[in-house]
Amino acid sequence: MIVVTGATGQLGRLVVADLLARGVEPGRLVAAVRSPEKAADLAARGVVVREADYDRPDTVQAALSDADRVLLISSNAVGQRLEQHRAVVEAASRAGVSLLAYTSVLRADTSTLPVAPDHKATEELIRAAGLPFVLLRNGWYTENYTGNLAGTLAHGAVLGSAGSGRIAAATRADFAAAAAAVLTGDGPTDIGYELGGEPFTLAELAAEITRQSGTEVVYRDLPLDAYVAALTGAGLPEPFARLLADSDVAAADGALDTDSDDLPRLLGRPATSLADAVATALKD
Ligand code: NDP
Repeated sequence: MIVVTGATGQLGRLVVADLLARGVEPGRLVAAVRSPEKAADLAARGVVVREADYDRPDTVQAALSDADRVLLISSNAVGQRLEQHRAVVEAASRAGVSLLAYTSVLRADTSTLPVAPDHKATEELIRAAGLPFVLLRNGWYTENYTGNLAGTLAHGAVLGSAGSGRIAAATRADFAAAAAAVLTGDGPTDIGYELGGEPFTLAELAAEITRQSGTEVVYRDLPLDAYVAALTGAGLPEPFARLLADSDVAAADGALDTDSDDLPRLLGRPATSLADAVATALKD
């Protein structure tokens, strides 16, 4: 069985779809999810849906009992993730899986990103478990920047604190395809991939949106506190606003950049370009 955790999330759904498109039998594919009722559409396609709540290790253990290959999609509960991920690593160990892949973050072991400590600790847990593993050290999703283009166009501005830091973002679909390639391939194990697309600065992002939309959009670089205030003013909870702003400050120093070609190599094609990602977002 191939097991994908977090399979009702945005990335998880794309991984499941990609695995099915690669010819994985739905009956050999487990969508391990916190809320099975959200996965009714997957069950209707023949995918095996099992409850696996990271906060309830017994459910995770049952969901992974016959697993051969597992993709642990990191939880979105930043700060509580190590214990949650431990449940999956322990269940994978108990099942004796032949591969445990994990969605980490670029250079998790040295990164200054605020999300990195959970990833670093999880990676250490995985290494210590002694299972064959692959670390999918994902960069930021392009959708973090193109997900609200209507708002960006209305304000005529991209806001941030990333200065001229380069951001090697890639689409969720590309990261999902890389994960599916690892899950179905026979590549090396006990390895980490640094996964990112063609880097851009936020000024280049603004220029691309301007070029394609015909509406002038500028990049407005803000001091940390001003950016936090802008995000909370737009309705984001303060802790999340701070996490995003701190991430931007780290990005100004290159934390979201990579020159690695691991992503196109896993995909067997170039990563989706910023231009194509913006074009897709403008159509939505
Ligand atoms: P989503 O928020 O769309 O999905 C997160 C998934 O985690 C959901 O399926 C959610 O389940 C599941 N989950 C949360 N808590 C639990 C739990 N206790 N037990 C089981 N499952 C749980 O995120 P994405 O799919 O977009 O991204 C995947 C992960 O990547 C995120 O969780 C986060 O760790 C990280 N991330 C990366 C970003 C990047 O730019 N690279 C940006 C944002 C996040 P449910 O469907 O029931 O809610």
